[in-house]
Amino acid sequence: MQIAKNVAVQIHYTLKNDAGEVLDSSEGAEPLAYLQGHGNLIPGLEKALEGKRAGDILNVSISPEDGYGVRDESLIQDVPRSAFQGVPSIETGMQFQAESNHGPRSVTVTKVTADIITVDGNHPLADQTLHFDVKIIDVRAASKEELSHGHVHGPGGHHH
Ligand code: ZN
Repeated sequence: MQIAKNVAVQIHYTLKNDAGEVLDSSEGAEPLAYLQGHGNLIPGLEKALEGKRAGDILNVSISPEDGYGVRDESLIQDVPRSAFQGVPSIETGMQFQAESNHGPRSVTVTKVTADIITVDGNHPLADQTLHFDVKIIDVRAASKEELSHGHVHGPGGHHH
């Protein structure tokens, strides 16, 4: 069976940056399970996996445009400290979920002053070319329930 839209896939992967440093890997854990064509993975990786089969091995390099995006300076915002009610202390590096015009977005605190908190809504891997080593472990038809949820259930997927 080939990877195509609405197919449930299990992969092992290692993600490296341009310098060859490992940023993320599924090795030593259970494989990642995802549903092809539902935005579970970054677009460039889904594109590279389309048409592949269990047992295939891929080495793919993905540009920021097909990865976590190009840095957008307009996603850096100054927010009054009063917007963080209930958070006892705010430090650089902390992450929060913020509401945006495009739904919830994860932002990182980059600067803290007495009154103003600067947050950055860019993904930490924005602007990076991503190098993936991928081994396809399993490819199967998704269940009706998985298709309606838009993700895969069971090992490496969602448990609920
Ligand atoms: Zn589900």
